[in-house]
Amino acid sequence: MAQTFVVINDTTLRDGEQTAGVAFTAEERIAIARALSEAGVPEMEVGIPVMGPEERENIQAIAQLGLPSELMVWGRMCDADLDAAAGCGAHTVNLSIPVSDIQIRHKLGRERDWVLRTITHFVNRALDLDLDVCVGGEDASRADMDFLLRVLETAELAGARRFRFADTLGLLDPFTTFKRISQLREASDLELEMHAHNDLGLATANTLAAVLAGASHINTTVNGLGERAGNAALEESVAAMHHLYNIETGIDSRRFPEISRLVAIASGRPVPVNKSIVGDAVFTHESGIHVDGLIKNPLNYQGLAPEEVGRTHTLVLGKHSGSSAVMQAYAWLGIALTEFEAKTLLARIREHAVATKQTPSSADLERFYLEAMPRAQAQS
Ligand code: MN
Repeated sequence: MAQTFVVINDTTLRDGEQTAGVAFTAEERIAIARALSEAGVPEMEVGIPVMGPEERENIQAIAQLGLPSELMVWGRMCDADLDAAAGCGAHTVNLSIPVSDIQIRHKLGRERDWVLRTITHFVNRALDLDLDVCVGGEDASRADMDFLLRVLETAELAGARRFRFADTLGLLDPFTTFKRISQLREASDLELEMHAHNDLGLATANTLAAVLAGASHINTTVNGLGERAGNAALEESVAAMHHLYNIETGIDSRRFPEISRLVAIASGRPVPVNKSIVGDAVFTHESGIHVDGLIKNPLNYQGLAPEEVGRTHTLVLGKHSGSSAVMQAYAWLGIALTEFEAKTLLARIREHAVATKQTPSSADLERFYLEAMPRAQAQS
């Protein structure tokens, strides 16, 4: 049965903040939580309680806002982390445990059976503490698939609600993701959550593949923030699922620009101008052929309507402009150009673009006009 809805669990306030060098203030955390919730994000992972009393207070402050979004906190599968998670005001805890042999042996110094026993023990303990449990499969992408199936079976039997498939190192591609998640989906009734990393630039693609394979939940971050190359971007995931597969998330994508700005400032990580959906320049057009086409009918060169994600088209003049764009730009300044004048000014605009690597401002355009058209100046 084709899926029509997927639940976004946004982890900007956990994995996003885990980005090297990123640290939000308490006020910034609250502003981000509010903005995400107001945009309709149904679930948020809001921190790591075992980090200390300040982190716990910050999590409690978000819980006290009474937002409609469900809150999750993150911890490892151990007493200290679980104890810290209880009483934070979050309904769900993600308890993370390595599931790949390399991490089981060389990080924990344990065996597979220990992992299974530990899952049973801690899922039960968390349930006793009145928490819903997501078993976080760290490094699931490098885990042996037969063992991973036993992990899910153990988690389900113990009473966990969800399994998080973490591509911790960002090693997967969409085809392998689809195969693995399909296999897990077929074998288990647990909620399945995809946690992708962008080391190969595939986080959003892998996230979509997981959803098509039956993942019910996905982790995202605003601007794709997150460890190393980051996680799947909220804005890309929402727009792509809607446009490619009619899979809805209940999120108001027109809020993306303000949320993106908020997180860019709070994280000290400016958004690259060409970042999909939220980058400054992704609805800006210069090329003569494209601008001419857009002026004739926006649908000629519009894949995603900018209004849908709170943006607008911007036309700029530059090296690749054509004379119709020049005439249009001057018309907006109240100057009607002849074809000949437009061609003359285009040469001047190209010279400016190459020399300054910038788009001419309105003042630049007026100056070019006055310089090139001395008779126009005399007449006016
Ligand atoms: Mn992660």
